[in-house]
Amino acid sequence: MKTGTYLAMPLVRQGDAVRFEEERRTLTPPADGEVTVHVKNVGVCGSDVGRWQGGAYHYPIVIGHEFSGEVAFDPAGSWTGRRVVVFPILPCRACEACRQELYAMCAHYDYYGSRRDGAFQEYLNVRRENLIQIPDGVSFEAAALCEPAAVALNGLKKAGDLTGKSVGVYGAGTIGILAVKIAQILGASAVFCSEPDAAKLAFAVSCGARPLTDGDSPDVYIDCCGAAAALNALLLRARARAKIVLLGNAARDVVIGQKAYSQILRRELTLTGTWNSRVGKNDDWREVLSYLADGRLDLSAVITHRFSLRDAEKALETLASHKEFCEKVMLSTEVD
Ligand SMILES: [Zn+2]
Ligand SMILES: [Zn+2]
Repeated sequence: MKTGTYLAMPLVRQGDAVRFEEERRTLTPPADGEVTVHVKNVGVCGSDVGRWQGGAYHYPIVIGHEFSGEVAFDPAGSWTGRRVVVFPILPCRACEACRQELYAMCAHYDYYGSRRDGAFQEYLNVRRENLIQIPDGVSFEAAALCEPAAVALNGLKKAGDLTGKSVGVYGAGTIGILAVKIAQILGASAVFCSEPDAAKLAFAVSCGARPLTDGDSPDVYIDCCGAAAALNALLLRARARAKIVLLGNAARDVVIGQKAYSQILRRELTLTGTWNSRVGKNDDWREVLSYLADGRLDLSAVITHRFSLRDAEKALETLASHKEFCEKVMLSTEVD
């Protein structure tokens, strides 16, 4: 096995404050069924901001669930040296949802970077069954976007076959942008985007979306905002029998007005939620990796900020402050 120490950046609580702490940790041998992954890139997720601001399940915790790396040590040998992404959910594999391979619905799941330590560190032991090989020609950086891209794809699939359908995406954060890009791959006839931030809207347009105007009437909506204003606006404009996929996490109550509510009935709107992504049956991850490998999905421009692992604090500040145009903030473990 590999020996030595490595850099880890756990979030620690001190009084009321939560901050990153630079720590040297000693490599531990992988447990039964695990391999040691040398983390290469890890994306910062909107959900990480909440953990950084005091909302994690427990402290200390190493966050980071969107990551790529290379297997440094597999006791069984077969994965050593292979480039991988890691499905962050650790399902119980025994409950009813798990039997249907609906791992994101597992009743007793664990999670890298949320409930247990994740990838804001140079090395992480992960379960072998969570590994997915990165195809040749796909960079570690692009592969680190596989998790949010799989979430966007899983959401789009909830609306059924998109061939020839027009899609309206609310919100042009990273997941919204990924939805804009992937909807086109899935055959959408047009993709519209509604986004109040001019720079983000312009970026969505550069990715193939059109600004959503009063005259447009998409067949399908993906709400990546999770906010009352956006959802009410969407419900009030949706055409009869439109499908609406709710994907954005809500930061506060999402109250639907009486008129907007009435539209759900009168226009027979279909609202459905989507949670996380799938591997195994209807595998979103392998589908995203195939799009990255054949060049249909180019995510290079989605990464707007790059930091080294040591600068995790700056990375979170950049994402949370909304001071400048920002889509995906990416960390690299290449630290001197
Ligand atoms: Zn995430
Ligand atoms: Zn389960």
